[in-house]
Amino acid sequence: MGSQKLIYLDNNSTTPCDPRAVEAMLPFFHQIPGNAASRNHPFGWQAEEAVDYAREQISNLLAVDSKEIIFTSGATEADNLGIKGVFEMYSRKGNHIITLKTEHKAVLDACKKVEKMGGQVTYLDVKRDGRVDLAALEAAITDKTVLISIMWANNETGVIQPMKEIGELCEKHGVLFMSDATQAVGKIKTHPKELGIHLMAFTAHKMYGPKGVGALFVNRKNPRVKVTSQMDGGGHERGMRSGTLNVPGIVGFGKAAEIAMQEMEADAARLSILRDKLENAFKDTLEEVYVNGNVEHRMPHVANISFKHVEGEGLMMTFNQNIAVSSGSACTSASLEPSYVLIALGLGDDLAHSSLRFSLGRFTTEEEIDQTIAMISKGVNHMRDLSPIWEMFKEGIDLDAVEWSEH
Ligand SMILES: *Cc1c(COP(=O)(O)O)cnc(C)c1O
Repeated sequence: MGSQKLIYLDNNSTTPCDPRAVEAMLPFFHQIPGNAASRNHPFGWQAEEAVDYAREQISNLLAVDSKEIIFTSGATEADNLGIKGVFEMYSRKGNHIITLKTEHKAVLDACKKVEKMGGQVTYLDVKRDGRVDLAALEAAITDKTVLISIMWANNETGVIQPMKEIGELCEKHGVLFMSDATQAVGKIKTHPKELGIHLMAFTAHKMYGPKGVGALFVNRKNPRVKVTSQMDGGGHERGMRSGTLNVPGIVGFGKAAEIAMQEMEADAARLSILRDKLENAFKDTLEEVYVNGNVEHRMPHVANISFKHVEGEGLMMTFNQNIAVSSGSACTSASLEPSYVLIALGLGDDLAHSSLRFSLGRFTTEEEIDQTIAMISKGVNHMRDLSPIWEMFKEGIDLDAVEWSEH
C-alpha cells in the first residue's frame, strides 16, 4: 500500500469524465448562466444553442434525428420513462411487457411498478452464455404485448444481445423494441434505426461524460412512438420530460459523444488487447479460472472472472483496495447476496461469490494491467493456500458430496 497508485478497473460503474468534456462544460456554470427555456434574452438563447449543439453531437453518434433525443437525469430515469411511459401511452393496445432476468435494476424495478399498475411482465431466463433464447422470446409474445425491453450489453458480464434478431422479431409481431444501451453507447457502434430499436436509454457518466445526465432516444417516424411523461411541469423536451435542462451536463454529454465517435474504435481495439492479456494471464497461470458469459459477443473492455473456491470479497482485501473492481456479491441490508445476473447464467452461489468484474477504460494503461495480474494472482494463491476447501479439492475430494454441518 502506501505509495502504490490506485488502479481503476471499475469503468462499468462509472467512467472518469474526459478532461475535454470538463473543459467544454466550464463556461456554462458561470459565464453563460442562462436557462435554455428562457426565450426572451441572449443568456437563454446561448444556453439553448449549446443544448441544440449537444443534441446534434449525440444524435450523430447514434445516427438519429436530433428531435429524437429526450434529455433526462440519467439512464435510470430514461429506463423509467421508456417503460412506464410506453405502458401508459399504449394501454388501449395491451398491457404486457417482456424483459430479461439479467436487466439492470432500473428496468426490473420499473417493470415491477408496471405490474403494480395492473400490467403483466414476463421476465425471461437467459441461456448459459447470458444471451436471450430467441425462440423463448418469440413464444412469450402475446396479442397483449406492447413492449420488449432488452439491454444491449450487460453491465456485469459485458455480454451483447442479438439486437438485430430481436429487432426482426419485434417488427414481425408489431411490438415496440426498447433497449437499455447504457453500457454500449460510446463504446461500440449503436445505431438504433438500423436494428429496429424504437426507444433507447443511455447515460453520460458511462461514456466519459458527467454524472447526472442521460437521454432516451424515442423514434419519431415509422412508427411515431410516444411516451407518457413521468414528470409534470413546464413541458420541456416536447412534453415528455419537464424540468430545467442541466445545461453544463448536457454540453459535457455532447462533447463526450463527439469524442466517442472519433475514438471508440481505437479505444476498443486497444482495450480488448489489454483485457485479453489480463484474462489469459489468469487462465494460463492459475487453476480453476472461469470466464463468465459469452466471450465472442462481449464488450471489448469487460472480463467477468470466477476464481473457484476464492471468495471475491475476501480476495479484494488481499490487494487492499489498490485495485478498484466489482465482486459478484451484492451487499443487501442483511447479507452478501450472489449477483442475480450470474445466478441467471446458471452459476452456483459459490462461483458467483468468487467472481470479479474487471472493466477497463480509456485511461487504463498496460502497466496497470501488468500490476493487476501480479497482485490478483498473488492474492488468489494466498487465499487458496489458506483454504481448507482448496486443500480438499486438491486432494480430489468431491466437495458437492460433502455434508457440511453448518451452512
Ligand atoms: C449505470 C446503468 C444504469 C443507470 O444509469 P444512471 O445514469 O446511473 O441512472 C442503467 N442501466 C445500466 C445497464 C447501467 O449500467
